[in-house]
Parts: sequence; structure tokens; C-alpha cells
Amino acid sequence: MPADKPVVGVTGGIGSGKTAVTDYLQALGITVVDADLASRVIMEPGRPALDAVAERFGNDILLPDGQLDRAALRRIVFADPEQRRWLEQLTHPLIGEEIRHQLGAAASPYAVLSSPLLLETGQKDLCDMIVVVDVSEAVQLERTMRRDDNNEDQVRRIMAAQLAREQRLAGADRVIDNSGSLEALHSQLDQLHAELLERYANP
Ligand code: ATP
Repeated sequence: MPADKPVVGVTGGIGSGKTAVTDYLQALGITVVDADLASRVIMEPGRPALDAVAERFGNDILLPDGQLDRAALRRIVFADPEQRRWLEQLTHPLIGEEIRHQLGAAASPYAVLSSPLLLETGQKDLCDMIVVVDVSEAVQLERTMRRDDNNEDQVRRIMAAQLAREQRLAGADRVIDNSGSLEALHSQLDQLHAELLERYANP
């Protein structure tokens, strides 16, 4: 079921600047739905996905307060592709449902769906347009390490598990270059926002 409002998907690799983009668009009054947040919501206690995960992996996967132990689950699925596939088959449809629910409540002329896995999942099918936030791998590495205090190996491993830059760019309707300053980013977003309002405000 398509959302009522046009949906602009925003994606990019780790540390590319998705949050910098969506924070700015949100400040302009645009509803932003975050796929990472949706993936947490569906794993809240009382939701069926968490029960299914506890049944498969045992109660050790839960923290004492009943919340999911994300680090423990990550360890299991990173070590075993079959478990990872099982988890994805469980969660992807539920995340999609939660995202559609949130997009359906959008009140702005268009809504933004921000997701690191937009192009790899059916989430792209929810979008009328796909915006890729692009930086070089060197910039990605530097900004992520500065932000997360991760070492280079950790960040490189995450980058290797994500789509390659060229593949991501091949999926873009529009590329936002975030290699410059935040001011340079914001001026590209002002222009994009104006274009989208022109296109979508008076259908
Ligand atoms: P993730 O996929 O890990 O959630 P992200 O794509 O949301 O990352 P951001 O968190 O927006 O990326 O940006 C990564 C880091 O780089 C942040 O610390 C952010 O403040 C910084 N940053 C983003 N854009 C710029 C810029 N143009 N100039 C300088 N720093 C930037």
C-alpha cells in the first residue's frame, strides 16, 4: 500500500551524513521516518518479533529488564549467515509495516524515509525518489572514526558489509555531495527541498 504523501528515500553508507541531511529537512518541517528506529520499535517487549527471537536463541538474548540484548544478537548473526537470514526474514516485513504506518501519518507535503539499507531491501519500493548522500570512502572513514571512537578496522568491516559506493550511486535519482562543509550540504538541501515542494506541494 503506497503512503499518501510522496516519499523521498535518503540513504548512504555509514558516516556519509544521512542524519545531517534528515535533521536539516526535519527542521524545515518535513516528516522523517527512520528505518533504524522502526527496526527498534518492532523489537520492543510485547511485540511478536521479540518473542520469536527469544524462542530461537533462548532467553540469554534478553537483558534483565526484558529488552533485546542487541549486542548479543549482533554477535550471533554476524557469525552465522543462516541465522542472519532467519532474522532478516522475520524482521524485514515487520520493519516495512512499521515504516508504512509512520509514513502514513506524515503531515508534510512530502515525507523522508531514511535508511542505510534502502537499496538493499524492499524499502526502496516505498519511495517515489531516491537520494544518495555521497562522500569518498576516506571521508566516510574519517568522520565515522571521529564520531564513534571506533578503530579503523571496525569501520572498514562495516563499510565492506555495505553496498559499494558505485552500486549505491547507481541506485540514486539524486546525489547529494557531502564532501564539503555543512553549509555546502545545507545549500544543496535548500535547493532540493524547494524543488520537491514545487513538485509535490500542489499535486
Ligand atoms: P550512520 O550511517 O553511521 O548513522 P550517517 O550517515 O547518519 O551515519 P552522520 O551521523 O550524519 O552520518 O554524519 C557522520 C559524522 O560526520 C557525524 O559526526 C556528523 O556530525 C559529521 N558530518 C556530517 N556531515 C558533515 C560535514 N559536511 N562536515 C563535517 N562533518 C560532517
